[in-house]
Amino acid sequence: MSPAEFSVNGRSYAFSDAPVVVICIDGSEPAYHEEAIAAGRMPWLKELVASRGSSWPAHCAVPTLTNPNNMSIATGRPPAVHGICGNYILDPETGEEVLMNDPKFLRAPTIFAAAAAAGLSVAVVTAKDKLSRLLAAGLTQPGLDPAGSGSMVEPSNKGICFSAEKANEATLERNGIESVMELVDMDLPGVYSAELSEFVLAAGVRLLEQRTPDLMYLTLTDYIQHKNAPGTETANDFYAMIDHYAAELDKRGAVVVITADHGMSPKHQDDGKPRVIYLEEEVNSLLGLAGDTPDGGSRVILPITDPYTVHHGALGSFANIFLPPGADRAAVLAALKGREGITDVHLSEDAAKLFDMPLDRMGHLTVLSDKHTALGRYRAWHDLNNLEVPLRSHGGLGELNIPFFINRVLPAPTGTAGTAPNGERAVAHNYDAFWVATTHAALNLVAVS
Ligand code: ZN
Ligand code: ZN
Repeated sequence: MSPAEFSVNGRSYAFSDAPVVVICIDGSEPAYHEEAIAAGRMPWLKELVASRGSSWPAHCAVPTLTNPNNMSIATGRPPAVHGICGNYILDPETGEEVLMNDPKFLRAPTIFAAAAAAGLSVAVVTAKDKLSRLLAAGLTQPGLDPAGSGSMVEPSNKGICFSAEKANEATLERNGIESVMELVDMDLPGVYSAELSEFVLAAGVRLLEQRTPDLMYLTLTDYIQHKNAPGTETANDFYAMIDHYAAELDKRGAVVVITADHGMSPKHQDDGKPRVIYLEEEVNSLLGLAGDTPDGGSRVILPITDPYTVHHGALGSFANIFLPPGADRAAVLAALKGREGITDVHLSEDAAKLFDMPLDRMGHLTVLSDKHTALGRYRAWHDLNNLEVPLRSHGGLGELNIPFFINRVLPAPTGTAGTAPNGERAVAHNYDAFWVATTHAALNLVAVS
């Protein structure tokens, strides 16, 4: 591989001759790796922290959800730039909730598409299939022109992008690779399993050996974190597995970054029942409207809602409220402000500025709940029967802190620091991952080796 450089979304990416791998551990509250290191289950990461790597306080993008953050990492920019602010938006024309997993919703080209256009080889592996079409934009799916013209272009078909969930269905035409089941020596995992994430990492090691991609993104699923607290046996087993594969990637000479899409918090009462504010009911009752039907007046969009609701019942800590015509926005805002369990109520234009989000996809009011409280629509809408264990979820500012490790000794990146809306400082964002792993590492590799 020859050194290369390309720019996308206002940022330059310069490559050294080492392959770059970014691992996104879904729902990786920092306590998970801290507990696993303390229990002696992550020897590679422990050594990295002690002597041969760097780690900085880091934040994810808001809302602290999977798709907005994966696309932030994939584009190097927050949701205000790439437009993906949740799994669903309300289509103002039809009044229906629309799944936002199609590349047509993406407003910025990905780093992957730009790298492929620059002649670099790219591989992207995601656990759940729901992300694969967005991540494949411009690679194996139509996507925005990586040169920045703003128009949709046909896929370059130069990269690899597939999900562990549908690994057995991968084709050269759709995914840039076939026979994935032979490449990875594992059975096809269930969608709700630790193995779904292991499959991604195992595939990453094999791809690095056999295809030597210049740039690789491996993104996991938070099935384990939704069900298991940090330090539990199951959580430690999962992190030991991650440590094993990260060490294998490191051994093969890759620049490895480990980060996360968001944290994870317990959002239940002492009796194990979820602690939920049913926002649509409360807002409708404030407005003097019936509160428990879809046509009750206001409409609450919970952007965590997705087709895989088994582990969170569509309960997270972020909501957008669409008010009926004529409703007094300021009065609803004032009534919700200070309510126990709620940290933030903003006019959406203020929330868009504060959180770097796309205003035209946010409704009238934006509400965030605290670390221990979830937001719902109305009771009957949520099927909580599938919640087998007390609710753990994410979406708000309680899940902003995420890990950021790189297997190189580097000075802290500059120009990436920020103060979070909750006042906490961070040195980097998860969406700096590819920039730090390429440009930053490339510039500093010589100096520190
Ligand atoms: Zn996630
Ligand atoms: Zn989740």
